[in-house]
Amino acid sequence: MRRIFPGSITSYSQFGHLKVPKSLNNVCPACKEKVEFVLKSTYQSSKHGLMTDSACPSCKNSIPFIILTKENDTHPDVYIYDPHQSTDALSQIEHIPGMPEELIRAYKSAVSVYLSKENLATAVLAKRVLENVLKNFLADKANGQPLDKQLELLPEHINLVKSVTSLSPLMASDKELHRMLELEAEMDDEMAELVMNLLEDLIQYLFVLPGKIEMTKEQIEKKLI
Ligand SMILES: [Zn+2]
Repeated sequence: MRRIFPGSITSYSQFGHLKVPKSLNNVCPACKEKVEFVLKSTYQSSKHGLMTDSACPSCKNSIPFIILTKENDTHPDVYIYDPHQSTDALSQIEHIPGMPEELIRAYKSAVSVYLSKENLATAVLAKRVLENVLKNFLADKANGQPLDKQLELLPEHINLVKSVTSLSPLMASDKELHRMLELEAEMDDEMAELVMNLLEDLIQYLFVLPGKIEMTKEQIEKKLI
């Protein structure tokens, strides 16, 4: 699910007391082309909102759209169903360039045995995933070292701030993005969406994920007492 920002909505129609999008510009999840979707007005309605679809003008695939309604709010949240945008690691890892094949396979197997409640196999494969993650960064240095030692060695072999510092040139004062943020140049809808995506990624990376790892770690520690 990917949120559609109001800037991408090109026209609206009325559905009861709701203002719902009639057409919108977005990247098609199937063909990755930037297209204008015209949403069908034959909504499937439920307690939480409306569902409809639209055929991509480029690849002709039918793409689902979800309109979530909130009480007394006439401007509902609109989402496009984009399976690649899903936040679960399993559907994401295959689309990340450079993900090691072995790690993808190990993680998929771990998820699959976990879902069939095979805890012994889950333990075996969880260890394999951890080893694969660490080996990816440590290479030969991982050989013969226990997991705790490998984790200690990790900071010397991984540059976690690189993805953040690499944004610096984008913000340089002679760059167009800098001028946009200073309101000296205008952002178009596509740039506004990209900037919003960047904000979301940064917040996830710097706050949400470290916080989640910490909470899970604490839960595991409590369980082990
Ligand atoms: Zn398409």
